[in-house]
Amino acid sequence: MQSILDKEIKFLKGVGPKRAEVLESELGISTYEDLLFHFPYRHIDRSRFYKINEIHREMAHIQLKGQILKIEESGSPRQKRLHAVFSDGTGTIELVWFKGVKWIRSSLKKNTDYVVFGKPSPFKGHFSIAHPEMESLEQFKKKPGTSFMPQYHTTEKMKRHYLNSRAIQKLLATLITEALNHIPESLPAYILSEYKLMPLREALKHIHFPEDSKLLGSATHRLKFEELFYIQLDILRLRKQRIESPSIHVCSKVGDYLNAFYTHNLPFELTAAQKRVIREIRADLGSGKQMNRLLQGDVGSGKTMVALMSMLIAIDNGFQTCLIAPTEILAQQHYRSVSDFLGNLDIDIRLLTGSTKKSERKELHDALSSGNNHILIGTHALLEDMVKFNKLGLVVIDEQHRFGVAQRARLWKKNSHPPHVLVMTATPIPRTLAMTLYGDLKVSRIDELPPGRKPVVTKHATDKKRAGVFEFIRKQIGEGRQIFIVYPLISESEKMDYKALEEGAEILSQTFKAPEYHISMVHGRMKPDEKDHAMQEFKKGHTHILVATTVIEVGVDVPNASVMIIESAERFGLSQLHQLRGRVGRGASQSFCLLMTKNKLSDDSRKRIQVMCRTNDGFEIAEADLRFRGPGDIAGTQQSGLPIDLKIASLVKDGQLLEYVRQIAENVLDTDPVLNNPENIILNKQLKRLKNQFVNWRMIS
Ligand code: ADP
Ligand code: MG
Repeated sequence: MQSILDKEIKFLKGVGPKRAEVLESELGISTYEDLLFHFPYRHIDRSRFYKINEIHREMAHIQLKGQILKIEESGSPRQKRLHAVFSDGTGTIELVWFKGVKWIRSSLKKNTDYVVFGKPSPFKGHFSIAHPEMESLEQFKKKPGTSFMPQYHTTEKMKRHYLNSRAIQKLLATLITEALNHIPESLPAYILSEYKLMPLREALKHIHFPEDSKLLGSATHRLKFEELFYIQLDILRLRKQRIESPSIHVCSKVGDYLNAFYTHNLPFELTAAQKRVIREIRADLGSGKQMNRLLQGDVGSGKTMVALMSMLIAIDNGFQTCLIAPTEILAQQHYRSVSDFLGNLDIDIRLLTGSTKKSERKELHDALSSGNNHILIGTHALLEDMVKFNKLGLVVIDEQHRFGVAQRARLWKKNSHPPHVLVMTATPIPRTLAMTLYGDLKVSRIDELPPGRKPVVTKHATDKKRAGVFEFIRKQIGEGRQIFIVYPLISESEKMDYKALEEGAEILSQTFKAPEYHISMVHGRMKPDEKDHAMQEFKKGHTHILVATTVIEVGVDVPNASVMIIESAERFGLSQLHQLRGRVGRGASQSFCLLMTKNKLSDDSRKRIQVMCRTNDGFEIAEADLRFRGPGDIAGTQQSGLPIDLKIASLVKDGQLLEYVRQIAENVLDTDPVLNNPENIILNKQLKRLKNQFVNWRMIS
């Protein structure tokens, strides 16, 4: 039987085909359920009055009670403004209007108690509210139960179709009247009573139409609980299955390749952190269970070496391995450096990318399927179904955040028995995020850099200072150093971006003329072998300056380069800036990062640039990033690889709840591992229902 939740939204009174289309395209709402679970992103508490002397910078919307002391107009006749001084006895605040001045002026009265509602912003040491919502205290008191106003996300397009926050609320009122009593409970009764949770129907009602803050609190708690609970239940259930089924890829012996490599080829002493992590990986590989490990290490911490030595362990035990990188440049670089590291060891290592020729592929496929190849390095091309291994024992994924979940999942299908998996990332992931994303992953950290690295000195420079920047470049090149100059490339405005890149390169080539200076250029419109050639020229030191788009963002390793200049730095996100900066500071000499921006910056951009100038610590930067962008954004599947959108819980704020819920899910599974007890049937059913929203965790973790 079809549940009322699956009913199409166009059948709801007040929606109709056109608005249904807009709801679908803008918010992905196509069923009753989708709308019911489109939760307000906040509730404005209109039961609380603030005092003017309590106001501070970080406040969102607030409500005040008081009287108008003074009203005056300013500006030219065509651009009039209205100012009112508003007081509640603890202080004064300015109210400002730019529109409808005449009408508003005529309706405002002195000596009358008003309720004022709006967002205060600081202005010249004072606070003011622009276009506040106002009504007399008398009117305010007459209104029935509107103390918590839900606010819903909407878009410009929705507003054009009269679907603003209030309209959404209206639709929800209709929906709740029609459907609420038919909505099935989604948690077992014993869980509801044991953990004192509000039933689903009530929770849905109170999240959209809260009567007071207590009910709103209980509703929010119940819905967050449920959201996190099912994710954890799903992850933990799969983990149990995995732990119980033995891996056939047991790598218990330490063999010749690793030994030979360690004694003869290792070009430097491993850091203590690298050694520790390799021990952890070795234990996993030999344990008889499938390894799922996330290796976190800041840019430049030496993850590649750890990957290589892990692969050698697998090879020593008779397995094939592969290393996947997100870009062609990076795959090529890995191929070269791993080949160099391995030197004369008798190991078959090959490269497979989108530009590998057909004729080479044939031979490569043979080497893979016969088991003659030991290490395959490549890009997404590796994920193609054609690529079949004989005995794939270990997969390493570099810069895993750059891969989509679906892409990663394809790898797992390459074997009847999933291989061991090591994913590497320079992006530090806050603990709660890691638990949700990788509930089933163990985490290793490389928390120190190789010795002798000096922290990169980061400076902000505006376009006005360009002459000075050129002078600095000249000096650095004079000292034998090399320079990166990176231009943003953001897909929507690609054309303009390329223009900026070309113009920039033109100016550079006039300033830094051949034969004294040589410049390489790398961008996405070049053919792979052209790109590779330009990179190699730079890497070998034949060119002094590499002008590039963000194709070099991840992983590129040229230790002699000591200056990273980022053009239009205000257009980059923090983690991107950090990645780019990580390209320098790899050699022994002092390195610099110059963030070039236009002269005028928005508040947000300025803050980002300041963070970069202040710290080199990837963790601090990741947390600042979370704070600036907010949880809504990290949940964005693209940035984090997060396989599911959270509707109500927040990974930033609900860390404690997540851990609490995880424990409960664990208890449930301890008593009933396959969820077959009658009281748990509902859990099984709900997991199936959610299947489309969840990713197959087995495949990614
Ligand atoms: P990332 O962790 O960012 O991938 P890489 O693996 O590219 O870092 O390593 C950065 C640089 O440091 C490389 O040139 C690498 O050869 C070098 N390196 C790695 N480990 C050590 C070490 N223990 N001592 C000195 N240099 C090292
Ligand atoms: Mg790397």
